[in-house]
Amino acid sequence: MKHFKIAALAGDGIGPEVMREAINVLRATEKIFGFQFTITEAAVGWAGIDQSGQALPDATLALCRESDAILFGSVGLPERDPTIPKEQRPERAALLRIRKEFGLFANLRPVQLPKALAHACPLALERQGNGIDILVVRELTGGMYFGQPKKTEPLPGSAGGFRAIDTMVYTTPEIERIAHVAFRAARLRRKKLTSIDKANVLENGILWREVVTRIGQEYPDVTLEHMFVDNGAMQLMLRPTQFDVMLCENMFGDILSDEAAALAGSLGMLPSASLGATSGENTFGFYEPAGGTAPDIAGKNLANPIAQILSVALMLRHSFGLHEAAAAIEAAVTAAILAGNRTGDIFSPSETGARKVGTSEMGAAIVAALQA
Ligand code: NAD
Repeated sequence: MKHFKIAALAGDGIGPEVMREAINVLRATEKIFGFQFTITEAAVGWAGIDQSGQALPDATLALCRESDAILFGSVGLPERDPTIPKEQRPERAALLRIRKEFGLFANLRPVQLPKALAHACPLALERQGNGIDILVVRELTGGMYFGQPKKTEPLPGSAGGFRAIDTMVYTTPEIERIAHVAFRAARLRRKKLTSIDKANVLENGILWREVVTRIGQEYPDVTLEHMFVDNGAMQLMLRPTQFDVMLCENMFGDILSDEAAALAGSLGMLPSASLGATSGENTFGFYEPAGGTAPDIAGKNLANPIAQILSVALMLRHSFGLHEAAAAIEAAVTAAILAGNRTGDIFSPSETGARKVGTSEMGAAIVAALQA
């Protein structure tokens, strides 16, 4: 029997609600396919601070180290975050720390707009073509979010003024490894890669373009194009169907993946995978919804659990190699949508046959579709 250890860190806001549904899906998958999942829940984010004073408690980190993958909810609460020093806030102290700790350098964000949800997409129908299906591959451990120096200091010659410094740094090996991830992903899809940079202004952009072009020679079956990030942001709105895989550095990927996410109608639909290096058959991964803790709807059974449930499918595929089970979960999500189940974020009163459901009803519909 295949056995996998999963660290389930629900976090804050809607995290616990959507994690509950994801665990139900894991339990159903276990029974149907005969796997064994050891799922251990632990505190992170404000839940961690309230429990032990740390956004990433030592016990939680130890659990992650013993696990085959981390299934994560979201962390951070806007009304509490400013009450503690920046370095202790959940997004820095938990999320960025986990990424560094486990060398998670590749973030994969699939964005799909199912035909049945065309109404939830902000673009006119003719711009949606035959459907939107983009994979944003974002570099996760380099660039401006980590580059040194990073500080705020008094502005020389100014009374009370400051200057804030963030530094963008990329090395050749960092660009090479993320480019390989993106080219390999493109090979499994429609074989087109759009590399995003700002080579007209940034030194980083010039190096990025040179390295990606060189790595591209190893993938002659993949069509490579380069696009400036400002144009990329515009093209996502004008003609999103032109994109297959978009390869971005950290900050550009952060912004463009959220923009692409808007095309799918709701952040609540979008999973993400953050992968480290592959050793043998194992790729340690961190799987989470693309959205945050959604404090506006937390605790009300309103959150869409699909992003968390599709994150489970990504985990099964990328860290455990359970391709059939991953596809079954994705098919169950599609079936639940086709059956008319809609959480508030994807509901339109004008859609015939659609029924507004809560977090737990959507989760139950997906489990039922999986079992059927
Ligand atoms: P958010 O993603 O939490 O919410 C943005 C909008 O999307 C809200 O209207 C919210 O209701 C909606 N939304 C998000 N997920 C949804 C879901 N599953 N179902 C239905 N609607 C959903 O972003 P925000 O409001 O900017 O941030 C809130 C908090 O989350 C902040 O503290 C922020 O720092 C944190 N955050 C954490 C992560 C993470 O843990 N990875 C990511 C982003 C934001």
